Amino acid sequence: MSLPTIWVFGDQLNRGIGALAGATPQTHRVLFIESTVKIASRKWHVQRAHFIVTSMRKFANELRNEGFHVDYRFASSMREGLDLHVLEFQPTEVIATEPNSYGARQLAARLGVRTVSSNQFLCHPDEYQTFLGSRKSIKMEDFYRWQRKRLNVLMDGNEPAGGRWNFDEENRQPPPKTGHDRWPEPERYELDEVDRSVLESVQKYCFGKLPEGQWATTREGALARLRNFVDHVLPMFGEHEDAMLKSNWHLAHSLLSPYLNVGLLLPGEVVSAAEKAFQDGNVPMNSAEGFIRQIIGWREYIWNCYWQWMPEYAQMNSLGANKDLPPMFTDPAKTSMACMKSVLTGVNERSYSHHIERLMVLGNFALIAGINPQQFTRWMWNSYIDAAEWVMVPNVIGMSQYADGGLLATKPYASGGAYIDRMSDHCKGCVYDRKKRTGDDACPFTVLYWDFFLRHQERFVKNPRVARQVRAAQQLQDSEELQVVAAEMMKKMDSGTI
Ligand SMILES: Cc1cc2nc3c(=O)[nH]c(=O)nc-3n(C[C@H](O)[C@H](O)[C@H](O)COP(=O)(O)OP(=O)(O)OC[C@H]3O[C@@H](n4cnc5c(N)ncnc54)[C@H](O)[C@@H]3O)c2cc1C
Ligand code: SF4
Repeated sequence: MSLPTIWVFGDQLNRGIGALAGATPQTHRVLFIESTVKIASRKWHVQRAHFIVTSMRKFANELRNEGFHVDYRFASSMREGLDLHVLEFQPTEVIATEPNSYGARQLAARLGVRTVSSNQFLCHPDEYQTFLGSRKSIKMEDFYRWQRKRLNVLMDGNEPAGGRWNFDEENRQPPPKTGHDRWPEPERYELDEVDRSVLESVQKYCFGKLPEGQWATTREGALARLRNFVDHVLPMFGEHEDAMLKSNWHLAHSLLSPYLNVGLLLPGEVVSAAEKAFQDGNVPMNSAEGFIRQIIGWREYIWNCYWQWMPEYAQMNSLGANKDLPPMFTDPAKTSMACMKSVLTGVNERSYSHHIERLMVLGNFALIAGINPQQFTRWMWNSYIDAAEWVMVPNVIGMSQYADGGLLATKPYASGGAYIDRMSDHCKGCVYDRKKRTGDDACPFTVLYWDFFLRHQERFVKNPRVARQVRAAQQLQDSEELQVVAAEMMKKMDSGTI
């Protein structure tokens, strides 16, 4: 029978999204395309490749169980998969939900696929235009408040519940001295036949530690993780959000980003669950607000910045940073820096590190060492379980590398060893001394931090948020010696001996 086909992309795995929302087994056929070219095109982290492909295959099985005729096609490319599907089933038309990346939208248009509006995010780029209105300057905080009011989340009439919009001040505590086991261990599931067969097909293209059930691959599993987070972890969310510990990689982070990014969870249900826990008195205000800010504020803001500024945005490099990614990023043994080694080893083991490790360790290092932002984006994109172009590009190019010249962040997130020492337990026992900026044991973060502000002093002395740091760099008595040490460090970094 000739039916219209819904082509489901690998990051739209939800029955309630776009074209699938109103479909029934009687009205539509469903197509998935697993492209070998796409899988083999890069060296992915094995947990990431496994997560996406397994989630696709398991979602296809769920739709089959619901009675849908699903054509799950293995093809060398998307185009070939679509052509073969059309040849075999002669659909009346092929429909897709608006893809989440710029490239996929162009592909759909080239292949003549009709797209329907997506409800995968709470603020569609068309609605974002209403927020932009005639505003001259755009801040995440303004967008977040606009979202709170519009979506009626944590509101008391027209006022924010609890009398304040922002509890960030309470949420920047350094790591506690004791009780590092206070945060419950994330659950795991037993890998099944589908997992094993996916691993067989993807493993040869990948790097990193094999999956051990860390990341759920079904909606049921993702919902269980959400429940567990809300009941046991959310009450502690916030307070130590910016802390980093060798002995605890997750702290009170939700670990929900992969599910949100492929559609196994939707942002609205995640926010409702957190808000209800607050209303029931199970979660304090600073935790509920801190978490909800991440989802309806940061996440949706990043999504809309991506659509506002692509495609030129991905190629920006305003600081002219052109150093190659150093060998430690693919082999953590190539550094003695305790903080970098610990975070990079964690990425290898879990395909994940939390926000501050991404921003203030890896991103900070790439920024102050002058690593090419496109190379750094690509490495992160290949390595992280939750990566997608829409979220990786603004977070790397804008937030962490200042490669957009300040469109997204009003200052460069550069810091020296003192910040890492305050917020983590990495410095104790490191071969480097975070207080030293010259000598063999000078801390690379400290040296490169000062060197960064000396290199870019003309630009940043005009920026009120960092002008003080620039002036402090200009007044260093040992600035010449420091720049020589920095140049030597760069060489060591390139040769994998730093
Ligand atoms: C350099 C860099 C690269 C990043 N790359 C990605 C990426 O590829 N994919 C990704 O989902 N996030 C990315 N982020 C944002 C953030 O670090 C992750 O969303 C977060 O660490 C995911 O872990 P979690 O679910 O435990 O987060 P939590 O700390 O529990 O936060 C809750 C949720 O808030 C959302 N969120 C918070 N901050 C952001 C943000 N800046 N952008 C988008 N969503 C946010 C996420 O959905 C996250 O699940 C990046 C940040 C930086 C600085
Ligand atoms: S001393 Fe420097 S290199 Fe070592 S852990 Fe601290 S910040 Fe990192």
